[in-house]
Amino acid sequence: MSEKRVSFATGVEASEAVLPSQPTYWSYSSLQEMEACPRRWMLSRAEYPELWGKRGYPPLPVAAALFGDVVHAALEIIVRKLVAAGCMSPRTAEAAQVLRDLGGITAVVEMALHDRLAMLDGNPRLDNDRMKRISVELRDRVPHARSQVQVYLSRTVLPATPWGAGSQSDSDTLARGLGRRPAGPGTHPEIPLVAEALRLIGRVDLLAVTQDRVGITDYKTGVEDPGHLDQLRLYALLWDLDRIANPDRRPATELTAAYPSRDVTISAPDETQLRNLEETMRQRIAAAETELVASVPKALPSKQKCALCQVRQLCDAYWEQAPDALTLSTGTWFDCQGVVGPQNGTRSWWLLSERSGQKTMLLRTGATMPVLPPGRRVRLLNLQLDDPVTRVTSATLTTASEVFVLTD
Ligand code: SF4
Repeated sequence: MSEKRVSFATGVEASEAVLPSQPTYWSYSSLQEMEACPRRWMLSRAEYPELWGKRGYPPLPVAAALFGDVVHAALEIIVRKLVAAGCMSPRTAEAAQVLRDLGGITAVVEMALHDRLAMLDGNPRLDNDRMKRISVELRDRVPHARSQVQVYLSRTVLPATPWGAGSQSDSDTLARGLGRRPAGPGTHPEIPLVAEALRLIGRVDLLAVTQDRVGITDYKTGVEDPGHLDQLRLYALLWDLDRIANPDRRPATELTAAYPSRDVTISAPDETQLRNLEETMRQRIAAAETELVASVPKALPSKQKCALCQVRQLCDAYWEQAPDALTLSTGTWFDCQGVVGPQNGTRSWWLLSERSGQKTMLLRTGATMPVLPPGRRVRLLNLQLDDPVTRVTSATLTTASEVFVLTD
């Protein structure tokens, strides 16, 4: 594995990136992200020692994604406890007792939410206001998360695990990938599967092994997407190639994407399909790794991808194509770059064109927004275009907006 670390000047203050080296393992999602845009992959995973001590660029949390994480985490906690207690179904009296011991589904959801919010501590993109809003929004959705967990559980079947009650340490050990061992008959929540030769890894939400069947289930809190089935096929390949979890090379038989409203179950790939998929993955990983050696990570901009990109403030390829505010309609959320000009009122500034120095837009800010730095080049994210009361183009920086100062 290469240890080469390359620095990349993003052009944004306090944001010099130390690019990541080759990952030990690829996963379905990391490979997909690399293929969608190598620059986004690299900048999202780089280190920013001037900004904070954690790996990766600080993400701006999205409430919908956090909600999905909370549902997922709550399900994981409950299923592990049910399996450890030897429950074959979440609908038995034993399962009801397990849930009571946990304090009920709502208590588990609240615990998962607390843990997820704690992970946001120290994120330099989150001020107190933003943190409070996310926290309130997610707490309001606890009843919804509870009912989603209940729905998933109502459809879950847990084949008997031979080691039965009191085996929590076994299943926990498996789930954490410490001291992996064969996954025999029974239910295995959150089991890591590894294809060493491909350097490919995945974590299956629920692997159910019986005498004659091997089922793989992945819980999906979003809308149905054909990509979810591709991900399941990849898990079938990992199961096929994992010599520790599956030493007898038992084939997977069915793959299920469990959505809030229904399960979508497909047959697992046959031997020929598995070998084709293996070769495809080998080629995709080789292609992804050629991108890692570039000192300037390749950008693949597109309107759809860049609009949701968490590191677009660091990407000059995006700003070269950013739409002109004059072409947008009132109320549109947009990003723009310019030079902060003279102050116009207590909470308003002119934005000047970088090329001509002419006034291009009046920027209004809320009382809690920081003062804009006069004379500095800035990138502004998530502005809202105002109603044109005069012929002057104006936009408002709201609590959803962010200001990034460029190095000159
Ligand atoms: S802004 Fe677009 S081109 Fe730039 S890193 Fe993000 S997705 Fe890639």
